[in-house]
Amino acid sequence: MRIGIVGGGLGGLLTTALLSKNHDVVVFEKLPFVGGRFTNINYKGFQLTTGALHMIPHGNDGYLAKLLRECGCNVKIINSNPDGLFRVNGKDYAYKDLFNLVGLKDKLKALKMAANLKMGNVDKSISFGEFLESVELALKVGNAFTGWALSLTAYETPMEEIIEMAKNYHKFGGPGVPIGGCKGVIDELVRVIKNNNGVIKVECEVKGIEIEDDKAYIIGEEFNEEFDVVVSNLSPKLTEKISNVKIIKGKEPKPSKGIKICVATKEGLIKHNGVLFTPECERINGLNQVTNVDISLAPEGYHLVMTHQTQLTNNVKKEIDLGLEDIENLFNGKDYEILHIQSYRDEWPVNHASNGTDLDNVINDRLYLVGDGVKGKGGIEVEGIAMGVMKVVEHINL
Ligand code: FAD
Repeated sequence: MRIGIVGGGLGGLLTTALLSKNHDVVVFEKLPFVGGRFTNINYKGFQLTTGALHMIPHGNDGYLAKLLRECGCNVKIINSNPDGLFRVNGKDYAYKDLFNLVGLKDKLKALKMAANLKMGNVDKSISFGEFLESVELALKVGNAFTGWALSLTAYETPMEEIIEMAKNYHKFGGPGVPIGGCKGVIDELVRVIKNNNGVIKVECEVKGIEIEDDKAYIIGEEFNEEFDVVVSNLSPKLTEKISNVKIIKGKEPKPSKGIKICVATKEGLIKHNGVLFTPECERINGLNQVTNVDISLAPEGYHLVMTHQTQLTNNVKKEIDLGLEDIENLFNGKDYEILHIQSYRDEWPVNHASNGTDLDNVINDRLYLVGDGVKGKGGIEVEGIAMGVMKVVEHINL
């Protein structure tokens, strides 16, 4: 089959790498580079990113890692150990030790919550915030987790998604960092695609997708190419806008917004390679120090710290200022330099569909969607993208 892929983000490239083994595949990317929100930006020797925090939610054991291996990518992903710690009252605690920070009554309530969540014995119709709200610290910890991992507050996160995420966590474990960061993954996907004779066209903006009964067309200003199948890596909304197909039939996917601040530090802020969740910060939900995994992500003698916060109000400047105040408190007198501040919303959100608002990947036998507007249920970020890609590839190869 001849397959056209619209967009060369992680979703588009992963689909291409898998399909180009058995099909003729062409990728159309509007920018001069591929990777979308999952590649590196070299800034003064620091490997900052176009989006992601250089982390893969289930590390070397999750859906993305499995698909990368399946298509022949040699990506080394170092699992975090510990997965994450939580900073409360200036000290860092493992998840299980948080229960000892509250009074006996709250401890019993929190232990019951954790057991019920593990067994899936929970009301699926409520939000994670409602589930946690009877214990103040649990709600703060929940907000730090959903803010970091999903760019949502706990109240915006459906319990149904949390139950699926908990299952995935128990199956695959916590996050990991790929050597080379996001670009380490993208470079390998490009290598595999080229090896399979797949074609990647950059600076090729797609203006139209025409789906007919027996063929499909990808149209730009100077091209109109015929395919058997089209896979769009654009958001469902944008795909609908440029195609002749109705895609959003029910509720529109709701994007998630966030702010990332990259910090240079000689001394380093955290000693481990997992996430430091910050439930007590005004805005920042968590941070990582990716140079604890791969020193090449910063110039010699420096560490790279990346913080993330969900965008709580529409006043982006105020949100950034509050994030910067949090950083000042976290560094508590240590020397640091703010390298880059990025806000993600509108055309470039954190996720095109916040968890629980994703659409299906299969539109019809000629048009499919991949990417973070169509993640699999309970799939955190790129793991959710990988789940969607798996579904599309299986459907096309049927
Ligand atoms: P994109 O990366 O957006 O790719 C779509 C591609 O389509 C782009 O390259 C775009 O240029 C191209 N395109 C658009 N329009 C056209 C057109 N008309 N014609 C041709 N091409 C077009 N995920 C994690 O797993 N771990 C993290 O640590 C993490 N942290 C994050 C932190 C932040 C601040 C942000 C913003 C995101 C984070 N994510 C993280 C999420 C993750 O980065 C994204 O979900 C993922 O990269 C999206 O990939 P995608 O393929 O769906 O879309």
